[in-house]
Amino acid sequence: MAVTVACYGCGASYALPRQRCDCGEPLWVDGPAGDRWPASSDRGLWRYADWLPVARPTDGVLPTAGGTPLFRAPSLDDYAGCRVSVKDETANPTGTFKDRGSAVGVAWAAGHGFDRVGTVSHGNMATSMAAAAAATGLDCLVLVPDDIPEARLAHVAQFSPRIVRVDGDYGRLYDETLALGPELGVHFVNSDAPLRVAGQGTVAIEIAEAGAGAVPDAVVLPLSSGGNASGVWKALRELRAAGLVGALPRLYLVQAAVAAPVAEAYRAGRDRVTPVEPADTVAYSIGNADPPSGNRALAAARATDGGVLAVSDEAMLEARAELARAAGLSVEPASAATLAGTRALTRRGELAADDEVVLVATGTGFREPPSLDADVETVPLGSLREALRDGRSG
Ligand SMILES: *Cc1c(COP(=O)(O)O)cnc(C)c1O
Ligand SMILES: [Zn+2]
Repeated sequence: MAVTVACYGCGASYALPRQRCDCGEPLWVDGPAGDRWPASSDRGLWRYADWLPVARPTDGVLPTAGGTPLFRAPSLDDYAGCRVSVKDETANPTGTFKDRGSAVGVAWAAGHGFDRVGTVSHGNMATSMAAAAAATGLDCLVLVPDDIPEARLAHVAQFSPRIVRVDGDYGRLYDETLALGPELGVHFVNSDAPLRVAGQGTVAIEIAEAGAGAVPDAVVLPLSSGGNASGVWKALRELRAAGLVGALPRLYLVQAAVAAPVAEAYRAGRDRVTPVEPADTVAYSIGNADPPSGNRALAAARATDGGVLAVSDEAMLEARAELARAAGLSVEPASAATLAGTRALTRRGELAADDEVVLVATGTGFREPPSLDADVETVPLGSLREALRDGRSG
């Protein structure tokens, strides 16, 4: 079955594996879209088979992506300034929402005669794709920038993909793969590939189904390529078209202040994103000076009456510590941008104290723990009783 992909901007449509419109914008899968909540008792993202252009894989890890917890976290309300719930995407097989998109992309490739998949990534997506390929018995090609830290490579390498460091412009590398993939017979599932966007959109269907169609006032996501925001927006549009939800939640997208091209375009009232100078941030996963789906993410924020904002590295680190201390949740700094951004939005009155806000915890903190910032006391066993009775000395 050929999968139709369409342009959100000009409406043109094509067939997969095409990924870009003639107008330059990224494409997304056009239908299928379910018109009722699924009856199946499947828990993962494949529960939403009606929304997906690929059948559920039967074995291995792929069927386990998605189906993540959504919970109220009242202990964060004061800090955030509103009523907080968390959609815990760290519960995915490799600890990020990327597994939703990788599962759908890899399942499609496996079902369409590809024996190789690939991705351009320096982080979580590389790990996720390599794991999904390993689970399916496909070869995986991971293209990384040549300055990638060793520790990051180790996470990816454990799943045995072919890893190639590429010396050159990272944004251009992404575009190269759109041409190279079909030529080499490698199905690339990059950050805003249509199948990835379709798979990642299931997070929004889960949030809507959990409320039986009653959606929160706002959903807050960290923003890098714009692939995830695109998937959430697409799914919400489909849910509304099917009458499964009424008004859409406002989508708020949060970037790292050092490189925030989409937030800048939003603030300036433009509808096109201009690339900015790359800069280092503690939020490695959202350091993106030239997002391939930037215009589409901007359109998502505008169309839902949400917004795009930027937060500082300090604010993300503080919010990350708050998520751990107050809610028992470990996320990477990029993920904590949601709590930092929500706090900023309530302070400027864009979100109200009684607004129901879902923060998407996009990635686990266990891959990048914060440095030790606590006094840990040492006591001799012989004086343990005494020390514990005295309470903490440290
Ligand atoms: C990839 C990633 C993001 C950004 O998602 P995009 O789809 O690129 O906008 C945010 N947080 C984490 C943890 C990620 O891995
Ligand atoms: Zn177009």
